[in-house]
Amino acid sequence: MQTSLNGRHALVCGASQGIGRACAEALAAQGASVTMLARNADALEAVRGGLPGEAHHCLPCDLSDWNEAASTVQAHIDAHGPVHILVHNSGGPKAGPAIEATPEDMLAGLTPHVLGGQALVRVVVPGMRSEGYGRIINIVSTSVVMPIKGLGVSNVVRGAINNWMRILASELGPDGITVNNILPGYVGTERLSSLMAGRAQRDGSSAAEVEAAWKSTIPAGRFAEPSEIGNVCAFLASPAAAYVSGVNLPVDGARLAAM
Ligand code: NAD
Repeated sequence: MQTSLNGRHALVCGASQGIGRACAEALAAQGASVTMLARNADALEAVRGGLPGEAHHCLPCDLSDWNEAASTVQAHIDAHGPVHILVHNSGGPKAGPAIEATPEDMLAGLTPHVLGGQALVRVVVPGMRSEGYGRIINIVSTSVVMPIKGLGVSNVVRGAINNWMRILASELGPDGITVNNILPGYVGTERLSSLMAGRAQRDGSSAAEVEAAWKSTIPAGRFAEPSEIGNVCAFLASPAAAYVSGVNLPVDGARLAAM
């Protein structure tokens, strides 16, 4: 099975921590040179220092400023060559019921994920086409399949990314470019800790009680390690996954299946 990413250049967004960081680590472990994008330069440098191999780069920028992000990535491609693998990932939108979200909250959620993603795709696809190799992997959520109570804005954003992924997979398939969504379940990251604390505050319970309640919904009985998402990302990025496209892939310890 061909899983080596030697000679491939990956751009991983939101790579300073959590799932994005785990994806960067998994791709580098398979031999890719990894360019990591997030807002905090120091945090990115710290991750870069721990990656195997030498040819890794940091691109500090904000996906919410999509024009700036696109021109930063274009300049990087001009200097270092085409991107073969795009991992589109960003922070989760503000939590809370959908009915309490303002239009501005909706826009703030849609901006880095949908508009930022579209801006980056338009920059990386020409190189993928000319290389005859492209992998676009979106880090989304199981709310694509089943909306999650209390994550109103996020559910809307994920629904948009679902159809965006499917139409791109259809349009780009003839160019040897696959487009897929990874749907993480509960993953032990900074984002999850803050969601548990927020839920505990809203419910008048403790974070430990929220954690136990959430784990009870997962047949695997535990949260995922970030590396378990990274490993799936590295597989989808590889030559072995050339015929997997247009797919929403839950990586959730069978939580969706048990609903
Ligand atoms: P995280 O908050 O730990 O990390 C998010 C990363 O994105 C960080 O590197 C952050 O700096 C970066 N980022 C945030 N906003 C950005 C912006 N505007 N521009 C550039 N970079 C930005 O989150 P995580 O837990 O790793 O989750 C990643 C994604 O997966 C999120 O969309 C989250 O909602 C989703 N998700 C997470 C879980 C989970 O349990 N952790 C479950 C399902 C879905």
